[in-house]
Amino acid sequence: MTNDRKRKYSAGLALMQRPVLPLVRLFLLLYLTGPFRTAAELAGELNGEVETGGVTYPAPREALAPYLDELAGFEILKQGGRPGPVFDEGGEPLDPMEALEHLVCHRVLVRELETVNSLLCRPCGCSLCCTGPDAKMRQEFFGIPLAEEETALFPLAMTDTPESRAADPYSGDEYAPGGVPFYRQGAGIHRFRTGFSLILPRGERCPNLDANGGCAIYPDRPEVCRRPQIFSYLIEETEGEKIARNKLLAVTDCPYVRDLEEEIAAYAASCGLELVLRRNKG
Ligand code: SF4
Ligand code: SF4
Repeated sequence: MTNDRKRKYSAGLALMQRPVLPLVRLFLLLYLTGPFRTAAELAGELNGEVETGGVTYPAPREALAPYLDELAGFEILKQGGRPGPVFDEGGEPLDPMEALEHLVCHRVLVRELETVNSLLCRPCGCSLCCTGPDAKMRQEFFGIPLAEEETALFPLAMTDTPESRAADPYSGDEYAPGGVPFYRQGAGIHRFRTGFSLILPRGERCPNLDANGGCAIYPDRPEVCRRPQIFSYLIEETEGEKIARNKLLAVTDCPYVRDLEEEIAAYAASCGLELVLRRNKG
């Protein structure tokens, strides 16, 4: 990598070169084999430098501090409880300890990636995630899934009718209220069968995208806007069932994913995950 790129991505790369997941796995081992009642008790003992999985952590307690609430999830194992079921890809349930390790590691990774993605996105000056398809793309619209309480963040009309609730925007059966396809009716929020979505048709932009390419509601932006374009696919949740996938997903539409393929692969390997690169748009 050139020095320019190293400088551009330095803040995000610093986190990626020392991923927290190997430390979380060591933490679980120490917690289970030691006399610690709570996760906080063990974290308080982690004073010196720790090396695990080929990564050195000069200050392990500080590295784990942002995730202590998630690590407290391990306590269920000493309280005689059981985590909810997680299945392997063959449909077999994992044993409770493995299931809990997957659940906690997934939640920690999601949070670490939120920070990593924000740090890598910022210097790119890109707004691909916040605009509809451009003239060269084959898609007619991009959809941004929203939780119901997030819909109020957008000053846009909402369509919530029996027809919209029965429609799936990605199925071949075109949803066309008033005889016009929904994606030809301007940017808007629709309540589909699959939930709420912000629809950005070709050439349109999110109303919260400011003139400088920044997000006007950045601290309050919806969850889905916090997570692109490197995703934890350690667990997949489909129809309420959790499946262990043990993968890291990175979308190559994104300029920093293209720039940092090698570094993302090294991050995935340190986390014990298989890297899957995918193109979404275009
Ligand atoms: S809410 Fe912000 S981050 Fe999300 S699409 Fe709009 S401008 Fe982009
Ligand atoms: S594609 Fe990547 S760099 Fe562009 S806005 Fe999305 S996350 Fe940021």
